Amino acid sequence: MSLVFDVRGEPMEKNEKTSLKDKLLLYTGLQKQTPYVKDYFYATNMRASIYMSVLVIVLELWMIIRLTRKIINEGLQKQLSYLIKNYFINYFILLGAGTVMLIFAVRFVTGRKDNKFLSLGMQYLFSFICIYFGIKVSSHDYVKGEQILTFLTMELFVVCLLTWRPFVGFLILTSSYLVFFYKIGAEPAFNTGTVGLTDATKINGFTMWLSTMLFCISNYNKTLSQALKDERLEKVNDHLRSISIHDELTGIHNMVYFRSEAEKLLNYDTTDKNSIIFLFFDIENFKSYNEKYGFHQGNEVLKKFAGLLNEVFSHSLVSRFSDDHFVVLTREEGCQDRVRELSYELKKLQGEVQLQLKCGAYKPGDTESDPSLACDRARFACNSIKKRYEKSFRLYDKTLEDKFMLKQHIVNNIDNAVENDWIRVYYQPVVSTRTGEVCGLEALARWKDPKYGLLPPGVFIEVLEEYRQIHKLDKCIIRQVCRDYRAATDKGEGFVPISLNFSRLDFELCDIVGYMRETAGEFKVPKEFLDVEITESALTDQQDFLQKAIVVLRDAGYKVWLDDFGSGYSSLNVLKDYHFDVLKIDMKFLSGFADNEKTKPIIKNIVSLTKQLDMVSLTEGVETKEQFEFLSSIGCDRAQGYLFSKPIPIDQLREKLDKGELKFTEDYKPIQF
Ligand code: C2E
Ligand code: MG
Ligand code: MG
Repeated sequence: MSLVFDVRGEPMEKNEKTSLKDKLLLYTGLQKQTPYVKDYFYATNMRASIYMSVLVIVLELWMIIRLTRKIINEGLQKQLSYLIKNYFINYFILLGAGTVMLIFAVRFVTGRKDNKFLSLGMQYLFSFICIYFGIKVSSHDYVKGEQILTFLTMELFVVCLLTWRPFVGFLILTSSYLVFFYKIGAEPAFNTGTVGLTDATKINGFTMWLSTMLFCISNYNKTLSQALKDERLEKVNDHLRSISIHDELTGIHNMVYFRSEAEKLLNYDTTDKNSIIFLFFDIENFKSYNEKYGFHQGNEVLKKFAGLLNEVFSHSLVSRFSDDHFVVLTREEGCQDRVRELSYELKKLQGEVQLQLKCGAYKPGDTESDPSLACDRARFACNSIKKRYEKSFRLYDKTLEDKFMLKQHIVNNIDNAVENDWIRVYYQPVVSTRTGEVCGLEALARWKDPKYGLLPPGVFIEVLEEYRQIHKLDKCIIRQVCRDYRAATDKGEGFVPISLNFSRLDFELCDIVGYMRETAGEFKVPKEFLDVEITESALTDQQDFLQKAIVVLRDAGYKVWLDDFGSGYSSLNVLKDYHFDVLKIDMKFLSGFADNEKTKPIIKNIVSLTKQLDMVSLTEGVETKEQFEFLSSIGCDRAQGYLFSKPIPIDQLREKLDKGELKFTEDYKPIQF
């Protein structure tokens, strides 16, 4: 947006020059004024009218008092009717006009809105009365040989205190001067007795006219430039205000505006909280749509969806929070029908990608006043039905409330958990299919909570990722693993490499590789003993960024494993774009082992593909002997699953080793420093 405006208040290029015609229009005041500039002049004149009317009122009161005292002191009661007709009536008319003008002006300044045309009419009338009496009194005085100060004062009041467009000022001044000089020119001069104006009077009159006119022009220009400056600022402010409350892409309101308006609404006494509802929308599969049709097309869908939302939820508070997340505050009545209507409309936009609208709803309680919490709950309800095809609407209820509280607990206590050893590492053995010996351990996190007991990662990993706190947990696991390695090695006990699960966000939120290197240095853990697992689903977006992170890890000497291979849609692409040392075949492949005929050939093919790509193959979720034997027979290098052991704490692992239930491979000798 151009932030420079021309004299009409219209945007113009910085270097654009004002033409002669524009200058002429400017100095005569004939140019078109914007409504803002008109209002500015109106306001300036109404304020100036206060001074002017007060001056006139004081002047007239003074005149009335002076004449009354003169009548009393000099006993002029007999001439009273003459004095009333020639003086008092003038004083009272001026006093009355001044008072009415003052009332209008004060009402305007104190914010009471009168009819603008009436106020302006009063201003013109008042000016006319002032000048009329100025001419009348001074022409009378002139004939008596007195000064013509009343006329001049009134001219100055009207033309200089008020701001006129120059051509209007010119008309007022010129006509009043002409009338005045015509009037005094028609009377015999008091000293010579001859009729007509002297040259000196004409020159003085012209000089006064000219200087008043010049002042009128300069006053107008000064006020105009101030008005334009203010208008410009106002426009910039409007623009800033608009972008601060609107979502740039879709044009509907943004999160900031939504929150502040929703807060006001929740705090109004008149709001019936039982009848309103917060709706959180998420378009499932929108990422795939973007991947297939590109960002531009994706943005078009978002814009259209925002338009639909506005239509379907008219008279509601509608906003876009981020990406494909929209939030609405509306009446509860009929809202599910409207969500269905939206879902139906969205389907028309989907093309070849299955877009599904998910909506989480939250009804605020009677005492609720925090819209952020309400939105979080609606979002939580929405997330709870993600990837559940049959569900598109979920109301936040008691079951979700319990889960939500747990989630809040996790987010609020991650630092406590790290500091107070609530985070524990459990180890699950990885077994060589060739020897049956343990050739690796996977480090899996557990949260031992004083209030909720032992929590599995399914409860806290996603939450910590959502709140971008996951790196705290992963750093804590790295530290514990290194400590366990050092303790075991110092006791002369054997160890095998440990694989750590890293979140995609670890690379964004901290220098996880640097931290691992430092901690391994501190506990003297050789690089060969630490591997990194990255889950396949992490690799679907931000390819470049993760690709680099994987290269950094491998360059630093760590082995990188691809976890949960086959769980997502982009498995083969992932193999093409990244380089891994170990491929972990997702446990879902084994789930149909007994009764699905296709399972075996699929696993077999994946294993042979792994060999071709020079990677080690590992299948997770091995629960039966048959599965293990099959994996051995097809040449899958390693297996992991409940058949060997569930994930267990280090001391239980030691017990199993001591009892001979598990045996560490001899391939890895503890390295003494
Ligand atoms: P994952 O890395 O794929 O871990 C394997 C999961 O499968 C573990 O669940 C393990 O207990 C389970 N599992 C192993 N063998 C069997 C089996 O034979 N049958 C069945 N039904 N399950 C088996 P867990 O420990 O609940 O971990 C779940 C996920 O949480 C992990 O999947 C991993 O993605 C994540 N995770 C765990 N610990 C961490 C961590 O420290 N950091 C990060 N970022 N993620 C972690
Ligand atoms: Mg894993
Ligand atoms: Mg896995």
